[in-house]
Amino acid sequence: MTVTAAGPLPQTPYDVAIVGAGVVGCAIARELARHPRLRIALVEAQDDVGQGTSKANTAILHTGFDATPGTLEARLVREGYARLGAYAAETGIPVERVGALLVAWDEEQLAALPRLAEKAQRNAYPDTVLLGPGELYAREPHLGPGALGALHVPGESIICPWTTTLAYATQAVRAGADLHLNTAVQHVRAADGHLLTTSRGTLRARHLVNAAGLHADTLDRALGHEDFTVTPRRGQLLVHDKLARPLVRHILLPVPTALGKGVLVAPTVYGNVLLGPTAEDLDDKRATGSTADGTAALREQGRRILPALLEEEVTAVYAGLRAATGQEDYRITAHPGQAYVTVGGIRSTGLTASLAIAAHVTGLLADGGLDLGPVREPEPVTMPNLGEAFPRPYQRADLIAADPEYGTLVCHCERVSRGEIRDALASTVPPRSLDGLRRRTRARAGRCQGFFCGAAVRELFERGARP
Ligand SMILES: Cc1cc2nc3c(=O)[nH]c(=O)nc-3n(C[C@H](O)[C@H](O)[C@H](O)COP(=O)(O)OP(=O)(O)OC[C@H]3O[C@@H](n4cnc5c(N)ncnc54)[C@H](O)[C@@H]3O)c2cc1C
Repeated sequence: MTVTAAGPLPQTPYDVAIVGAGVVGCAIARELARHPRLRIALVEAQDDVGQGTSKANTAILHTGFDATPGTLEARLVREGYARLGAYAAETGIPVERVGALLVAWDEEQLAALPRLAEKAQRNAYPDTVLLGPGELYAREPHLGPGALGALHVPGESIICPWTTTLAYATQAVRAGADLHLNTAVQHVRAADGHLLTTSRGTLRARHLVNAAGLHADTLDRALGHEDFTVTPRRGQLLVHDKLARPLVRHILLPVPTALGKGVLVAPTVYGNVLLGPTAEDLDDKRATGSTADGTAALREQGRRILPALLEEEVTAVYAGLRAATGQEDYRITAHPGQAYVTVGGIRSTGLTASLAIAAHVTGLLADGGLDLGPVREPEPVTMPNLGEAFPRPYQRADLIAADPEYGTLVCHCERVSRGEIRDALASTVPPRSLDGLRRRTRARAGRCQGFFCGAAVRELFERGARP
């Protein structure tokens, strides 16, 4: 059970090295770790898992009803939805099956709804229902005026993206995978397998998986492939205060048009309401900042969907970069002659599809000559609950009676206790920054954004990190 963030890397060759510990790379590491004979390295440039696109998305567990039928993405999203739904129930990752409404605001959009229902059928999702305006407004009384109807997609769900990545990483590490953080892969060359030059020295592996997200094209080129180019597509989002949560019951999706997928309003499992995302093609793979123009455009669109939302406070603004490739499918390709699999172009659905991508990639590695050996199911993990729909530690008298630290709140906006912070600092994949601690506990994620609790949280973090 090893997580390293500094010092030299092991020199014994690994069976498989996975570059990138986002939700996809962590899922692949977890899947491979079910095979106890394999030595697995999960190699990440940053100081935590899930610090790339995986931490900044709209957190929807998609049914895949609107995927392009027949694509690999359509299949993996459908499978991933079922797999992650079951996995979340086992591990305590919060999921709420709130359902989605695709709202039509004009005749053209209304005419598109039956076609979308038919597309859902072709994606093996038969449960959509067309709603007239009466039923739509009965379901969503705060919707702006003028909606003509909607398509109800009951299976669309909201999920905690942070705990998902962490659960995969935790299980992989406990099953024996090595997680090397602060390890940016700089060069790769063939040498009896792969010789990776990283910011922490060299590392050898017989098989290589490229799950480098926005940088998957760069690594792919280093291995001699010109298959795709990643153009980051920024999505900015506004997080509204918890007082806005009663305004919306479903995920409110726009009807996709030729101009794009549009802006949604969605509840989060933490009890907030999201408005976004924008879709801006950029050159800079680090441009995760928000802009005044982006925020203004979102508010303009939000005004029509849910006017009362505009009256509510915005708690936070964030942006994520989709790994767009200009192609309508994932770029998952096996190169068996090189003992190498590219997992590129995982654009807008990678959280949902992650477990199915992992199973698919494991199959490709086996087809390419990796001897998986026997399977041993990993020890189940139970993740701390960050969701409002399930009891949090401060609400559980049994837990507090057994350990009063769960009754001592540190972050009052998000009701995070000392016990949860202590547990996160002692966990298998502990945080290395206050942001990492936030993704594990919600501390400092509330309406004061750490203004009141920041010093106390920092003190606990520093004490925990350096006992
Ligand atoms: C605005 C937005 C909304 C979205 N909404 C949803 C949604 O509702 N539902 C859904 O299912 N999906 C959604 N997605 C998509 C989903 O977030 C992504 O598909 C998923 O996070 C991709 O995961 P990843 O592991 O491939 O990439 P990442 O999370 O970016 O991970 C790649 C990792 O590789 C590391 N790396 C890169 N280069 C190197 C190197 N040379 N050496 C070592 N490490 C390296 C990076 O540091 C990074 O941690 C959304 C995305 C965005 C941007």
